[in-house]
Amino acid sequence: MKQIADLIGLEADRAAEAALVRGGELERSGAVQLVRFSPSLITAEVDDGAAYVEFRVVDGVLRWYCTCAEGRGGALCAHCVATAQSVRRRTDRKASPGMSSPTSSASTARITL
Ligand SMILES: [Zn+2]
Repeated sequence: MKQIADLIGLEADRAAEAALVRGGELERSGAVQLVRFSPSLITAEVDDGAAYVEFRVVDGVLRWYCTCAEGRGGALCAHCVATAQSVRRRTDRKASPGMSSPTSSASTARITL
């Protein structure tokens, strides 16, 4: 079974262009605060109208939810994309000790994998 981070990455690759661009901006600006990070559930707060994003794996299928209008309609919105990129960045770098890189003041959330 795939990891939730892999499933999220695959889904984000299929997101609409506008959501990808906006989501990337949000992620780089440090708007994403990952709240929970577990093998079946990832939640985050995105500081763009205070959106709340949730990714969940149910029976091997990725489901997501966001409190914004697009997200409530079932779209993979910019907040979901931003969260996906944040997840990808963290899982790519989980070997690095600490989070003291001067260029990544993006998020202060501490994630224990
Ligand atoms: Zn949203």
